[in-house]
Amino acid sequence: MTQLEKIVKRIDSFRDEMIDIQIKLCALPAISPASGGEGEEKKAEALLDFLKNNGFSKIEVIKAPDLEAPSDYRPNILAFSKGKSSAKTIWIMTHMDVVPPGELAQWRGDPFKAWVEEGKIYGRGVEDNQQSMVASLYAAKAFHEEGILPNYDIGIALVADEETGSEKGIDYVLVHTNAFRKQDLIIVPDAGNQDGTMIEVAEKSILWLKFKTLGKQAHGSTPEKGINSFKAASFLVAELNNLYKAFPDKDNLFDPPISTFEPTKKEPNVPNVNTIPGEDIFYMDSRILPRYTIKEVEEKIKEMTEKIENEFKVKIILEEAQKAPAAPPTSADAPVVQALKKGIKVIYGKEGKAIGIGGGTVAALFRRTSFSAACWSKIDETAHQPNEYCIIDNMMGDAKVFAHIFLQE
Ligand SMILES: [Zn+2]
Repeated sequence: MTQLEKIVKRIDSFRDEMIDIQIKLCALPAISPASGGEGEEKKAEALLDFLKNNGFSKIEVIKAPDLEAPSDYRPNILAFSKGKSSAKTIWIMTHMDVVPPGELAQWRGDPFKAWVEEGKIYGRGVEDNQQSMVASLYAAKAFHEEGILPNYDIGIALVADEETGSEKGIDYVLVHTNAFRKQDLIIVPDAGNQDGTMIEVAEKSILWLKFKTLGKQAHGSTPEKGINSFKAASFLVAELNNLYKAFPDKDNLFDPPISTFEPTKKEPNVPNVNTIPGEDIFYMDSRILPRYTIKEVEEKIKEMTEKIENEFKVKIILEEAQKAPAAPPTSADAPVVQALKKGIKVIYGKEGKAIGIGGGTVAALFRRTSFSAACWSKIDETAHQPNEYCIIDNMMGDAKVFAHIFLQE
C-alpha cells in the first residue's frame, strides 16, 4: 500500500467517529455575543480536548478580549503537527462560530441536536464550518495514527468571530501573532460548490448604496402640484443600468465575469394609492471587478443622479450602506491553488478551477496582509439555512484531499 492508500483507509475508519464529533460540536452552539450567544468558549474546550488527545505537538490559544462574552474573551486556537520539514506550514483554517438557527418552525428537528438521515448530517453549523473543521482534524489524526510524517508542518487554525466580521477572530490573530508566513499554504475551506471544483481566489469590490429621492407630496389627482419622487427614482434606476455600459470589462476568472449593478431593496413609500409620494428610498448592490476603483464608479453614479435631479427637480441623497474594496487576488498559479488542484484531481477525479466571486470571504483578510489564501470545499451551500446539512461523503472526501496535500512534495 502507498502512503496515500494507508491514510485514505485510515480516514475511512474514522467515519463513525467523525459523525459523532459533528453531533457533539453541534450541541455546543458557538453563537457570537453580537448575535445573542455566548461565543465559542465551550466549543473551543471540546476541540482543545480533541487536539490534546490526538498527537498535536503544539497548541496555542489566542484570546481576543470581548467584554460581551461570558468569559471576557473569544478563543482562537492554533494547533501544529510536525512534518519532515518546517520550511513551510500547510494551514487549514476553519471557524468555530455559527449563526443563529433563525425561525425554528422551519427546521425539521432541533438545530442543535444534529441528526443523520440518508448520508447527511443535519444541524446548525454542520456544513458551515464544521464539515471542513472535522475533515481537517481527522486528516491530521490519520497521519498521527499511521505514524506517517507529512512533508511539511500541518497548522490547524480554529478561529472565532467569522460570522460577525472576524475582528475577534482571524483579524486579531494576524495582528497579534507571527504564525503565518509568506511561504505557507493557507486553505480556508469556507466556500465551495457541489462538485468540489471551485477554488476561490479573488473577489470583487462591494458597494452598497442607499438612494433617497426627495420630491413633493401631493394628491394623486393633482400630480402637477407635487413632484413624484417614486417616478424620478424609477428613471434613476433605469439610468443606473447604464453602469453596465460604463464599466463593461470582462474577466473570465470571475463568475459572473462582469461587474454587476443591481437595484435591490425598496422601502415602502406612501400607504395609499391616491397620494403622489414625496420621498422614495431604494438600494443598489454593486459588485465591481478589481480593475475598476470604487471611486470611479461612485463618480459615474454621481453624474447620473445629478442628471435625474435636474430633469425631475428632485433632490437625491446618497448614502453608503457598505463599501469594501477587493483584496488583491491570489494568483491562479499560486502553490496553494496548485496543491488543491492536485488533491481534487486524485480524490474526486475532477479538475479544480480558480475562480473569483462577487462576495467577500474571510480569505480576503489574508490577501490584504499579502498572504496567498484559497477557499475550497465540496459543499451543497446550505450554510445559514434551516435544515443546514453536511453530506458525510463530502466530509470524508475533503479530509482525503487535505491529506493528499499534506503528502505533496
Ligand atoms: Zn462559514
